[in-house]
Amino acid sequence: MRWTQTLIPTLKETPADAEIRSHQLLVRAGLVRKVTAGLYTLLPLGLRVVRKVEAIIREEMNRAGALEVLMPALQPTEIWQKSGRYESMRDVFFKARDRAKKEWILGPTHEEVITMLVAGEINSYRQLPKNFYQIQIKFRDEIRPRFGLMRAKEFIMKDAYSFDASDEAAQVSYQKMYDAYVQIFQRCGLKAMPVEADTGVMGGKFSHEFMVPAETGESEVAYCETGHYAANVEKAISQLPQVSNPKSNTPNLPEKFPTPGVVTIEALTKAPHNVLAEQQIKTLVYCVDSKPILILLRGDHQLNDAKLTAAVGTGNFRPASEEEIVAALGAHPGSLGAVGITTLPVYADEMLRGGEGMTTGANEDGFHWRYVAIDRDISVTKWADLRLVKAGEPCSVCGQSLQIRRAIEVGHVFRLGTKYSEALGALFLDEAGKQQPAIMGCYGIGVTRTMQAVIEQCQDKDGIIWPMSVAPFTVCLTPLNITVGHPVMILAEKLYQDLTAHSVDVILDDRDERPGVKFKDSELIGFPVRIGIGEKSLARGEVEIKVRGGSMILAKAEETVSKVLELLKR
Ligand code: ATP
Ligand code: MG
Repeated sequence: MRWTQTLIPTLKETPADAEIRSHQLLVRAGLVRKVTAGLYTLLPLGLRVVRKVEAIIREEMNRAGALEVLMPALQPTEIWQKSGRYESMRDVFFKARDRAKKEWILGPTHEEVITMLVAGEINSYRQLPKNFYQIQIKFRDEIRPRFGLMRAKEFIMKDAYSFDASDEAAQVSYQKMYDAYVQIFQRCGLKAMPVEADTGVMGGKFSHEFMVPAETGESEVAYCETGHYAANVEKAISQLPQVSNPKSNTPNLPEKFPTPGVVTIEALTKAPHNVLAEQQIKTLVYCVDSKPILILLRGDHQLNDAKLTAAVGTGNFRPASEEEIVAALGAHPGSLGAVGITTLPVYADEMLRGGEGMTTGANEDGFHWRYVAIDRDISVTKWADLRLVKAGEPCSVCGQSLQIRRAIEVGHVFRLGTKYSEALGALFLDEAGKQQPAIMGCYGIGVTRTMQAVIEQCQDKDGIIWPMSVAPFTVCLTPLNITVGHPVMILAEKLYQDLTAHSVDVILDDRDERPGVKFKDSELIGFPVRIGIGEKSLARGEVEIKVRGGSMILAKAEETVSKVLELLKR
């Protein structure tokens, strides 16, 4: 490709609306242009990267035995009603109407469509296992589209769906995808770590997210340095020891004491009360499906919404309003507690088990209970893991201290079970002739998000440093004199022909620009190898070969091609 014949609108200035480095570089390097918030056009260079990421994904999916299909983006609403997700996913839908005013859905994901396909085409265990994938555009009405391609309204996803006849077989399908994902991200030059992920209301432990560590990531991962454990904080557990209070501090009965004006955990830790946060019970009131429940946590712990979802079996909850709280408990926030409560469900975090000598609100403004023994004084409806882990807590496997860092979720593998196959009738006859629902898994990779994650991870102050495998062009030829017939340009044209003949993706910077401009642009875009041809060095029979983010070497003009091929092999 010749630079002057394509469109690479590089920018010196950082676009005002690009908050994170990878978003700025996407725009500045001329890879994308914004249409409006959450919608982008991939320009020629950006599209080349996306196509290379897709090619890697295709190879690895095919290698793992998955079958490529292409489903329509436009989906009938009926299948969403049938699966039961028409209501629960309504917030993410983009809807369309046809001329008869009938409603359609622009697919945010494709479980429904693929399961309908399998329901129609597969009816025997002999046809299983099957895994179908596609690379396609998804539509999601995100609350907060931001960070360029990271969270867009429309984005490219690879989604795959496996169908199996038994749990064991489903586990094999899951592992194949997990292994393929490890390969895919490695081949894209990304350091991505698989972490245990929340399975939401689905339950079960088969879900992993592939996370690219980055300060700008929207997820948080807890992990131990030794590599024993890594999980999304939504799901992470630790081996925190229970805080036990000396028995002598726990008389036989709780005692109510005045705490005028004390309405926070923090305030109760201060004089004259001096109650450590870990010796307090924090009482939250939530409405689950509009009915109030109490949630108890240790004073120094925070509620984890994903764990609450798993515990109550629905994501349909919210903190109760002040009026609802007063109606339920007769006191205001800051004086709430569960001592003696039998009329409301009480969910208690595991860390409170066996707690004695605890202090908690008395459901009377300005009063607390102390010397509370949980087993004796509180009737807990359900014990559950409800808290967020914190950095420094001991790893549940090895006891080493956990670290927490931010990360970008680039992929997700998930065991679905039979939820969709049952709802949509993807049934097969097993060996005994009995009808069974297929056991499903789903596996997503954000293609456009992956491209941006590579930029977030591979860059320096001058611009992007593309891994060879996904670079828009691997070699940039930079003649510093573009006069036709000049020895510099003659050599450039020859190298262009020779490298192209060796299937190297090469771009010839044939612009009439100063050397500084050309060099800056090629650093900004981040071509892995640049070949500089200047009059002076050529007079000595040499060219300059510069590896992006690395050193510059001088090479004999006639050895350029072999030198470059050697560099590209690495
Ligand atoms: P997130 O928690 O980031 O919203 P998700 O759990 O909704 O992601 P999935 O439904 O599992 O994501 O989709 C599979 C992959 O698609 C994700 O791992 C991510 O890489 C990508 N993805 C999801 N939403 C977006 C989006 N709005 N823009 C770009 N990529 C996305
Ligand atoms: Mg999402």
